[in-house]
Amino acid sequence: MMALQKVDTMRISSQKDTSPLTFKDFQEAVSWILRGGYRLRLRSDGVVEVCHSLPGGRPVTQEILDALTPFYREFKRRLKKPRGWPRNVELPKWWSDMALGFKITRARASECPECGFSVAILVDFDMWNEWRCPQCGVIAEPCLPNVKTVS
Ligand SMILES: [Zn+2]
Repeated sequence: MMALQKVDTMRISSQKDTSPLTFKDFQEAVSWILRGGYRLRLRSDGVVEVCHSLPGGRPVTQEILDALTPFYREFKRRLKKPRGWPRNVELPKWWSDMALGFKITRARASECPECGFSVAILVDFDMWNEWRCPQCGVIAEPCLPNVKTVS
């Protein structure tokens, strides 16, 4: 019984080590990125950089880059400065945590009453929209219901 268990465990762990990293869709890739503490950044030349942001940083391997490549266009679209983001303000370094995890439709110059960050972003939660501070997450304005056309 003990021997069988041991063999079983070994088989499972060796399988895990050899199977290549793949994601079935964008959502799966994003949850893997956020869970693992990885961050993406869109450079001005259009290259998306991947780094690890947690203490004890994990290496970004070619395997990771290959697994994320099919989603490049979607990453790029999300990592761009949203419409209305002031030119003179850089995106914060944690931007990909926000931009990949939420649907951000717009931005505008607006000082956060809580932390003083100078931009607010409009987050689409499907049923409603909220202006939020991208730094501390506080709601910058009362939320607005999403008006959807019924077809
Ligand atoms: Zn704030």
